[in-house]
Amino acid sequence: MPRTDKIGEMSVSEHHEMILSETRESGAEEWACTTCARRIVFRWPPRYEKLVLEHGDVNAVHVGGKGGLRVGGLAVTRAPATEMPATEMPAAERDWLRDNGIEWDGASA
Ligand SMILES: [Zn+2]
Repeated sequence: MPRTDKIGEMSVSEHHEMILSETRESGAEEWACTTCARRIVFRWPPRYEKLVLEHGDVNAVHVGGKGGLRVGGLAVTRAPATEMPATEMPAAERDWLRDNGIEWDGASA
């Protein structure tokens, strides 16, 4: 893409997408850029922490790629986790089945 506008050059940053590569036992998340070598460790509030392991391309804008969540941007929003899996059976129905001798979760016994 040819750059003809010198003034606009500073504001035209490449957008790199970061993906979650690892979740550590402490709850910290390790994110890696799909385009450059940037790697960060990120922990959610209240124990917020961001540690840059590899700076990668510092001129790029790094955007997180998990469920509308943004890392390094202005807003941090999580998608609501209220949706139940379609296969989830209401507890009342499981109890009814158990009362009738059917273990819905029988595999985990
Ligand atoms: Zn990058």
